[in-house]
Amino acid sequence: MTKLAIFQEPMFHNEDKAREALEAELWPNGPYCRHCGNSDPEKIAKIEGKKHSHRPGLYYCNECKSQFTVTVGTVLERSKIPLTKWLMAAHMFNSGKNGVSAHEIHRTLGVTYKTAWFMMHRLREAMNELNASPMGGKGQSVQADETYYGNSSKRAKGYRKGHSHKAAVFALVEAGGRARTFHLNRAKGATVRDLLVTNVRRTSELHTDESKLYTEVGKEFAAHKSVEHGGAGRGQGIYVGKDGATTNAVENFFGNFKRSIKGTYRFCGEQHLQRYLNEFQFRHNHRTKLGFTDGERTAAALKGIEGKRLTYRPLSEAKP
Ligand SMILES: [Zn+2]
Repeated sequence: MTKLAIFQEPMFHNEDKAREALEAELWPNGPYCRHCGNSDPEKIAKIEGKKHSHRPGLYYCNECKSQFTVTVGTVLERSKIPLTKWLMAAHMFNSGKNGVSAHEIHRTLGVTYKTAWFMMHRLREAMNELNASPMGGKGQSVQADETYYGNSSKRAKGYRKGHSHKAAVFALVEAGGRARTFHLNRAKGATVRDLLVTNVRRTSELHTDESKLYTEVGKEFAAHKSVEHGGAGRGQGIYVGKDGATTNAVENFFGNFKRSIKGTYRFCGEQHLQRYLNEFQFRHNHRTKLGFTDGERTAAALKGIEGKRLTYRPLSEAKP
């Protein structure tokens, strides 16, 4: 289906259809109460009738005696923005590789720039992949590397040379597979070790550069191979060690992330870096090469609106 044909889908224009689409995605086995977890169809009633027609999609849970809708307990809760617009934004966000700017959402959906910006941050929350299974495994390699992110323009306010005041980004990448990223204040051995042993199966082979950060923790894995980075190969995109180790996948991941941020968002402040990383990582982990269509990627993102702690501040306090 072409993009234009997709935008003609009723769920992007009709609020009831949008809600039904979201219900089908989040409740494949019928509605359940997010207040108490009750999913017994005998104890859940749809509230209908004229009195409630102003709030369609309302259910009553006989177990905990409370009302709920499909968005209760999700990152879309208490939003006044119509679901049609949420679905459209989620779709735009997940079409292609590079995401979409708040400006584009603002123009396409006819919402204010501030609302568009707010919607994007909530969708990024949804795309935060919590509880993902450990990476790698027996006979598999996981590449680890760190990079520094910051405004590199010398004319930028507060520009300072060197790495020490840039944000560190640590990434784990399975060759041909998933990625996981972390914004660190500083890349320190203890932090890097914690992230490695909690996210990567110890039966994996670890591939890194020759940084001392990995020397000790490398011994905790089935094998540790390293690639010389600093030399002539730097910047040419070829990093293959004598023993066949490579960090190409993680290098490419960083390269794509930086290009994508620059192209779509121009620059992202350090306070939002982890959210942008989550967004980029989500698309990477649901990319076309791994068998996901735009529609499936969008559906996966929408599934993520559940089970997230609502940590953001209300829109009125948020600053783009
Ligand atoms: Zn309940």
